[in-house]
Amino acid sequence: MAKPLVLGNWKMNGSIPANAELLKGLRDWDASKVSLGVCPPAIYLPQCQVVLNGSDVAWGGQDMSEHDSGAYTGEISSQMLGELGCQYVILGHSERRQYHAESDELVANKCAAALKASLVPVLCIGESQAEREAGETLAVIERQLMTVINHLGLEAMANTVVAYEPVWAIGTGLSASPEQAQEVHAYIRSRLGDVANSVQILYGGSVKPDNAAELFAKPDIDGALVGGASLKADDFLAIAKAA
Ligand code: 13P
Repeated sequence: MAKPLVLGNWKMNGSIPANAELLKGLRDWDASKVSLGVCPPAIYLPQCQVVLNGSDVAWGGQDMSEHDSGAYTGEISSQMLGELGCQYVILGHSERRQYHAESDELVANKCAAALKASLVPVLCIGESQAEREAGETLAVIERQLMTVINHLGLEAMANTVVAYEPVWAIGTGLSASPEQAQEVHAYIRSRLGDVANSVQILYGGSVKPDNAAELFAKPDIDGALVGGASLKADDFLAIAKAA
């Protein structure tokens, strides 16, 4: 298993001066024990590239098109992310699924396009509050994950990262308990067959400096996808140090 991975999803936050401050606080990270990366709004990727080039900190996109190029106004391609030095791309985030009607099939196509461009897809999956209350958590995970596995093939999954992000825990301050997260992470790993131990499974949803260590202590939690707490260098680094 690769070393733990902690990724920051800035979502639609940041400004050139605020990013400069944040990136300055991150760029001396030593990734010998824990890999660190940031996923800013795409328009700030060149700024990240300038500041982080030569550092141990990786960067990536928050989304991309399933298409290679053409008449898709507003979209960004995998090749464009690659040109800007991206290593990762978050795909299928619940905010994309919810506000942009992204289907499991579209997310699977995007994962294939990312792999073709040598980007590491960070596939986000997770159930809503209503689905958890209805006892459907593992069925939702199964559907979201298997659509991608069936599309890519199991071997290709070895080059992906999976992020379990329960929708009810995102931005609410209410993280899944380590036990709740571990149950789902173990289920995800059980569906990954021969490549199970090559896939990093991140937890996301209200990860903070004060709950990170107990989450990372669970055997199938290999790191975190951090939203709000990734916007302050001290908080983000405290989470990475707990991994
Ligand atoms: P928060 O850490 O703000 O809950 O967001 C999690 C998330 O959606 C990361 O992708």
